Amino acid sequence: MNANIEVVVVGGGYGGVTAANSLARRDGVSVTVVNPRPDFVERIRLHQLLTGSDDAVVGFGEVLGGNVRLVVDTATRIDAAECRVSLAGGGTVSYDYLVYAVGSGASDPGVPGAAEFAHWVSDIEGAERLRSALAASPASAPVTVVGAGPTGLETAAELAEAGRKVTLVCGNVLGPSLHARVRRPVARRFAKLGVTVLEGPRARVTEVTGDAVRLEDGRELPSAVTIWTAGFRVPDLAAHSGLRTDAEGRLVTDTTLTSVDDERIVAAGDAGVMPDHPFRMSCQAAVQLGPAAAATILRRIAGKKAAPVRMFFAGQCLSLGRDAGVTQFSYPNDKVNALSISGRTGAGVKEIACKFTLNKLLSGARKASSRASQGGTDDRLETPQAS
Ligand SMILES: Cc1cc2nc3c(=O)[nH]c(=O)nc-3n(C[C@H](O)[C@H](O)[C@H](O)COP(=O)(O)OP(=O)(O)OC[C@H]3O[C@@H](n4cnc5c(N)ncnc54)[C@H](O)[C@@H]3O)c2cc1C
Repeated sequence: MNANIEVVVVGGGYGGVTAANSLARRDGVSVTVVNPRPDFVERIRLHQLLTGSDDAVVGFGEVLGGNVRLVVDTATRIDAAECRVSLAGGGTVSYDYLVYAVGSGASDPGVPGAAEFAHWVSDIEGAERLRSALAASPASAPVTVVGAGPTGLETAAELAEAGRKVTLVCGNVLGPSLHARVRRPVARRFAKLGVTVLEGPRARVTEVTGDAVRLEDGRELPSAVTIWTAGFRVPDLAAHSGLRTDAEGRLVTDTTLTSVDDERIVAAGDAGVMPDHPFRMSCQAAVQLGPAAAATILRRIAGKKAAPVRMFFAGQCLSLGRDAGVTQFSYPNDKVNALSISGRTGAGVKEIACKFTLNKLLSGARKASSRASQGGTDDRLETPQAS
């Protein structure tokens, strides 16, 4: 592998960073990460940002190899024919291969008033605004969390533990992604925290106003701060660039994570989809997909056939405040089973999972950096700038 190959990674989240570090370990490969912020966002800790138990950011200098170049900017278009990415700052970056890793964020539920009045915790900008809104409202003000998936459960518990008066509107059941038996310790934890849990098919929010939410069953609940957690939405960059996407806007790939339109574009993380092998949008998937995307590119550079990605899931770890949590175990294909760890031990397992994930990024950066110190290129920009 002698000729220099340029790989541009669009998006510096879990998928993008793990892909970049894997690629940067190879001689003859130069890696550029394009990301709108100068820091890596630990999205799996964003609910902790709300109460201040964690700031959910780590410097890219720690998680990216010293030989990875960082461009702080937003990609606005991928020109696949010219192998070029346009940036919001006005510049362009050219590539031989591109890793599409723009992740996901809050979805617009299309419910009247939600876009105007509801907050979200799915990205750091939303979480910071929400933290300010909470700080501006009295501690006794009613807070409504809409959606009882993992993000809703973690957010509701975190706020209730901090003393907020929380109502959790489930949309149907508490923790739909959990096994029925694992929902019980979660329900007990919410009862202990004093969270009002509204379940049932009609426990759906149909309208949000500045000081209330309306439910399908006609009830109106006072709500000083409403937090919409149901569903993630992916950026429209792929669709906007004329690449094939699914109904949710995810880049459609084959089982090697390669775009069905262009073999130089490979996806990693929430923003890609293998239609015949769907996986849950998750950090757990993204840290597997990043190195797999890198492997696809490296095999192709070496003139070899890319191999299908193999995914392995262990379960879901949920924090329910700082003092308790639930680990829901699953089969390797992500189907949940009845095994779980709850209570304080569950909180400990979740914390270990978060630290393990960050350590994976840190060790990937160290391995990439050691390649640089052994004679590879080292052209990471010290100060963020667009090229
Ligand atoms: C509160 C919360 C808790 C969670 N807890 C868990 C958990 O316990 N376990 C788990 O498995 N998952 C969890 N998740 C989900 C997990 O965070 C995501 O699935 C994961 O972050 C996806 O990784 P990614 O690399 O695909 O994308 P992201 O981490 O979203 O990173 C994408 C990056 O791309 C950047 N980007 C976007 N558009 C552009 C553009 N046009 N140009 C350049 N850059 C761009 C973004 O700014 C971002 O930095 C949680 C999510 C939230 C919100």
